[in-house]
Amino acid sequence: MTHMNRRSALGAMAGASALASVGSLTHARTASIAGLQPEDLGWNDATLEYELPPLPYEYDALEPHIDAQTMTIHHDKHHAGYVRGLNKALQNLRDIRNGTGDAAMISHWTKQVSFHGSGHINHTLFWLGLAPANNGGGGMPEGKLGRQIDRDFGTFEQFVAQFKSAAASVEGSGWGWLVWEPLAQQLLILQVENQQKLMATGCVPIIGIDVWEHAYYLKYQNARSAYIGAVMNILNWGWANTRFESISA
Ligand code: MN
Repeated sequence: MTHMNRRSALGAMAGASALASVGSLTHARTASIAGLQPEDLGWNDATLEYELPPLPYEYDALEPHIDAQTMTIHHDKHHAGYVRGLNKALQNLRDIRNGTGDAAMISHWTKQVSFHGSGHINHTLFWLGLAPANNGGGGMPEGKLGRQIDRDFGTFEQFVAQFKSAAASVEGSGWGWLVWEPLAQQLLILQVENQQKLMATGCVPIIGIDVWEHAYYLKYQNARSAYIGAVMNILNWGWANTRFESISA
């Protein structure tokens, strides 16, 4: 099923349930996670499971910066694994909630839902935050995000230096993220270890770089900084600005 088809199907289902009841099910339709809508994350109301969203471009669209083989394995195997792990963890947590599961396992499933759920959200944002070079990717942000970066970092160049340094210096597997801290109304650069550790509660990720070895090792081997430099050519700043306008409104 394509992204648009799923979106249409969800829209049709939303209409049907709105006719059937005005209860809590329709209320949940307005919910979002990290500024992403249910359809962005492949949520299926019928099965109560997430489905792996397709890439928003072809596997080779980000060549030569990220090669097609890496994109294929990263999306079809790694991202798919997070979606599978998230669904499994949520099912087990529902079983515990409903009294049929093993409540002594709640620590295990809490870690699983945190790791795989964050993995699913992080990768969904990662794909959307990239675009082919010279076709949406690269350059620098304009609009509200551009102005906020200038205010909080001084210049875009100073932001880039910090962002690249944060991503390059992650110990082991993790991410560098530009995030919005809504209470203080400020941008911050944060590192994330694995999929979720170190991200402060309430900070909203805007755009990030995956620095797990699976994101670059086939093409760049141990040269993580070269990979990060290449990703700067394909960051989708137009999308990031639209996203920032939405989450900071
Ligand atoms: Mn990854």
